[in-house]
Amino acid sequence: MKNFLYRFMAGRYGNDSLNKFLTGLWLGAAVLSIFVDWKILYYIVWVLCLLVLFRSFSRNIPARQKENAFFLRIMRKPRSLFGGVKGFFDRLSQRKTHRFFKCPSCGTLLRVPRRKGLMNIRCVRCGNQFSRRIR
Ligand SMILES: [Zn+2]
Repeated sequence: MKNFLYRFMAGRYGNDSLNKFLTGLWLGAAVLSIFVDWKILYYIVWVLCLLVLFRSFSRNIPARQKENAFFLRIMRKPRSLFGGVKGFFDRLSQRKTHRFFKCPSCGTLLRVPRRKGLMNIRCVRCGNQFSRRIR
Protein backbone atom coordinates (compact mmCIF):
# COMPACT_ATOMS: atom_id res chain seq x y z
CA MET A 1 0.00 0.00 0.00
CA LYS A 2 2.82 2.36 0.91
CA ASN A 3 4.62 1.41 -2.27
CA PHE A 4 1.49 2.01 -4.28
CA LEU A 5 1.04 5.46 -2.76
CA TYR A 6 4.67 6.29 -3.45
CA ARG A 7 4.34 5.29 -7.09
CA PHE A 8 1.02 7.09 -7.37
CA MET A 9 2.45 10.37 -6.05
CA ALA A 10 5.71 10.14 -8.03
CA GLY A 11 5.92 12.97 -10.57
CA ARG A 12 2.88 14.69 -9.14
CA TYR A 13 2.83 18.16 -7.80
CA GLY A 14 1.91 17.67 -4.11
CA ASN A 15 1.36 20.43 -1.60
CA ASP A 16 2.25 24.12 -1.71
CA SER A 17 1.22 27.44 -0.10
CA LEU A 18 -1.76 27.86 -2.42
CA ASN A 19 -3.02 24.37 -1.62
CA LYS A 20 -2.63 24.97 2.11
CA PHE A 21 -4.60 28.19 1.72
CA LEU A 22 -7.30 26.43 -0.35
CA THR A 23 -7.45 23.61 2.20
CA GLY A 24 -7.94 26.22 4.94
CA LEU A 25 -10.74 27.85 2.92
CA TRP A 26 -12.25 24.44 2.28
CA LEU A 27 -12.25 23.55 6.01
CA GLY A 28 -13.63 26.99 6.84
CA ALA A 29 -16.42 26.63 4.28
CA ALA A 30 -17.13 23.08 5.44
CA VAL A 31 -17.44 24.18 9.07
CA LEU A 32 -19.55 27.18 8.08
CA SER A 33 -21.88 24.93 6.08
CA ILE A 34 -22.74 23.12 9.33
CA PHE A 35 -24.14 26.34 10.78
CA VAL A 36 -25.71 28.07 7.82
CA ASP A 37 -27.94 26.79 5.09
CA TRP A 38 -26.54 28.42 1.98
CA LYS A 39 -26.73 26.29 -1.13
CA ILE A 40 -23.78 28.19 -2.63
CA LEU A 41 -21.57 27.04 0.26
CA TYR A 42 -22.21 23.42 -0.67
CA TYR A 43 -20.80 24.08 -4.15
CA ILE A 44 -17.89 26.10 -2.78
CA VAL A 45 -16.92 23.21 -0.49
CA TRP A 46 -16.95 20.80 -3.42
CA VAL A 47 -15.12 23.08 -5.82
CA LEU A 48 -12.39 23.79 -3.25
CA CYS A 49 -12.05 20.10 -2.44
CA LEU A 50 -11.71 19.16 -6.12
CA LEU A 51 -9.33 22.06 -6.73
CA VAL A 52 -7.00 20.96 -3.94
CA LEU A 53 -7.08 17.34 -5.15
CA PHE A 54 -6.58 18.38 -8.76
CA ARG A 55 -3.61 20.57 -7.89
CA SER A 56 -1.86 17.99 -5.67
CA PHE A 57 -2.27 15.17 -8.17
CA SER A 58 -1.46 17.27 -11.19
CA ARG A 59 1.51 16.27 -13.33
CA ASN A 60 1.75 19.71 -14.92
CA ILE A 61 4.20 20.99 -12.33
CA PRO A 62 5.29 24.24 -14.08
CA ALA A 63 1.65 25.38 -14.37
CA ARG A 64 1.00 24.65 -10.68
CA GLN A 65 4.18 26.50 -9.68
CA LYS A 66 3.05 29.48 -11.73
CA GLU A 67 -0.33 29.49 -9.92
CA ASN A 68 1.44 29.32 -6.58
CA ALA A 69 3.78 32.19 -7.47
CA PHE A 70 0.78 34.26 -8.59
CA PHE A 71 -1.00 33.44 -5.34
CA LEU A 72 2.00 34.50 -3.25
CA ARG A 73 2.18 37.77 -5.21
CA ILE A 74 -1.46 38.71 -4.60
CA MET A 75 -1.16 37.67 -0.94
CA ARG A 76 1.53 40.27 -0.46
CA LYS A 77 -0.78 43.05 -1.63
CA PRO A 78 -3.46 42.85 1.11
CA ARG A 79 -0.72 43.13 3.69
CA SER A 80 0.65 46.32 2.16
CA LEU A 81 -2.92 47.55 1.77
CA PHE A 82 -3.52 47.13 5.52
CA GLY A 83 -0.14 48.73 6.16
CA GLY A 84 -1.35 51.65 4.05
CA VAL A 85 -4.59 51.99 6.02
CA LYS A 86 -2.72 51.78 9.33
CA GLY A 87 -0.11 54.19 8.02
CA PHE A 88 -2.84 56.63 7.02
CA PHE A 89 -4.14 56.76 10.61
CA ASP A 90 -0.60 57.05 11.94
CA ARG A 91 -0.02 60.03 9.69
CA LEU A 92 -3.38 61.52 10.64
CA SER A 93 -2.47 61.38 14.34
CA GLN A 94 0.94 62.95 13.70
CA ARG A 95 -0.11 65.65 11.28
CA LYS A 96 0.17 68.42 13.88
CA THR A 97 3.81 67.68 14.61
CA HIS A 98 5.10 66.12 11.40
CA ARG A 99 4.83 66.38 7.67
CA PHE A 100 5.08 63.45 5.28
CA PHE A 101 6.80 63.54 1.94
CA LYS A 102 7.35 60.96 -0.72
CA CYS A 103 10.92 60.75 -1.92
CA PRO A 104 10.81 61.83 -5.60
CA SER A 105 13.50 59.34 -6.47
CA CYS A 106 12.50 56.09 -4.74
CA GLY A 107 8.97 56.77 -3.46
CA THR A 108 9.76 56.07 0.21
CA LEU A 109 7.49 57.94 2.59
CA LEU A 110 9.55 60.26 4.78
CA ARG A 111 8.48 61.79 8.06
CA VAL A 112 9.75 65.28 8.77
CA PRO A 113 9.17 67.36 11.93
CA ARG A 114 6.80 70.14 11.01
CA ARG A 115 8.24 73.63 10.91
CA LYS A 116 7.79 76.58 8.63
CA GLY A 117 9.93 77.61 5.71
CA LEU A 118 12.08 75.80 3.22
CA MET A 119 13.27 72.41 4.38
CA ASN A 120 16.02 70.26 3.04
CA ILE A 121 14.95 66.66 3.24
CA ARG A 122 17.25 63.72 2.85
CA CYS A 123 15.79 60.35 1.96
CA VAL A 124 16.75 57.72 4.55
CA ARG A 125 16.58 54.98 1.98
CA CYS A 126 18.34 56.23 -1.15
CA GLY A 127 20.10 59.34 0.16
CA ASN A 128 18.40 61.60 -2.39
CA GLN A 129 18.09 65.21 -1.21
CA PHE A 130 15.23 67.48 -2.07
CA SER A 131 13.64 70.57 -0.58
CA ARG A 132 10.06 71.41 0.21
CA ARG A 133 8.49 74.61 1.35
CA ILE A 134 6.24 74.12 4.35
CA ARG A 135 3.55 76.64 5.19
ZN1 LIG B 1 14.61 57.94 -1.73
